[in-house]
Amino acid sequence: MQVLNNGFVRLVEHMGGDQAVIRNARRCYRSESKSENADRQLLRHLLKGGHKTPFEAMVFTFDVKTPLFVARQWFRHRMGSYNEESLRYCVALRDYYIPEDLEGDLRQAWIRQNEAAFDFYEELVNGPHKMVKEQARSILPIGIYTSFFWTVNGSSLMNFLYLRSDKHAQYEIRLYAQAILELVKEAAPICFDEFEREVLKNGG
Ligand SMILES: Cc1cc2nc3c(=O)[nH]c(=O)nc-3n(C[C@H](O)[C@H](O)[C@H](O)COP(=O)(O)OP(=O)(O)OC[C@H]3O[C@@H](n4cnc5c(N)ncnc54)[C@H](O)[C@@H]3O)c2cc1C
Repeated sequence: MQVLNNGFVRLVEHMGGDQAVIRNARRCYRSESKSENADRQLLRHLLKGGHKTPFEAMVFTFDVKTPLFVARQWFRHRMGSYNEESLRYCVALRDYYIPEDLEGDLRQAWIRQNEAAFDFYEELVNGPHKMVKEQARSILPIGIYTSFFWTVNGSSLMNFLYLRSDKHAQYEIRLYAQAILELVKEAAPICFDEFEREVLKNGG
C-alpha cells in the first residue's frame, strides 16, 4: 500500500489471526468458540478490560519504506523486531520525501536542497576522497527513505496503532498507522474491527 510520495507498507506474512486469539482467550475460561457473535463479544470484553496477552497469539511481518524521521519514531516501539537496510553497507539511493502540499518555488527549493546533498554524498563516496559510506551518509537529510522489516505481535501492534493514529502523532506516521490498520483488518477482521470500534474510536 503506497504511503507518502515514495513510501509503502506491505504485509509480508502473518502467523495466527482471529481464531488463534479466540483460542488462547478461551483457555482462560475453559470454554470453546460457539459462534462469531460470542467470539466478538469475548474480544470486545478483552479489549475493554485491557486483557492483552491473547492478542500476542498473532504475529505480523511488514515490509516498510518510510523517511528516516518516521522510522526514528517507529523504532521507539521496542516490543517488536526490526531489520533495516544499512547505509554502512549499501549506497544511499537518491530517494527522499517530498510533502504533498509543497508547491511552486518552495517545492523546487526542497528538491534542490535534497539533490545537492546527494550530489555531495556521491562525490564523497565515488570521488578522490573515497570516503567510507558510513561517514559520508551523515551529510544526507533526515527525509531520505529507509526500508525495514518489522515483526510485531498483535498486542504490541495495537499499542502502536493506538499511539500513532492519534491526532497528536505526526501526520506522516499517522498515514502509515492507517494503512497498517487496513492491512490487518483483512488478516484478522474480528480482532481489528473490534479494536477500531472499542479502542480507536473511543479514544482508548
Ligand atoms: C505523540 C507522541 C509523542 C512522543 N514524543 C516523544 C518525545 O518527545 N521524546 C521521546 O523520547 N519519545 C517520544 N515519544 C515516544 C514514546 O515515549 C514511546 O517511546 C513510544 O510511543 C513507544 O511506546 P511504548 O513504550 O508504549 O511502546 P513499546 O516500546 O513497544 O513498549 C510496549 C509496552 O511495553 C512496556 N515496556 C516496554 N519497555 C519498558 C520498560 N523499559 N519499562 C517498563 N515498561 C516497558 C510498556 O508497557 C509499553 O507501553 C512520543 C510518542 C508519541 C505517540
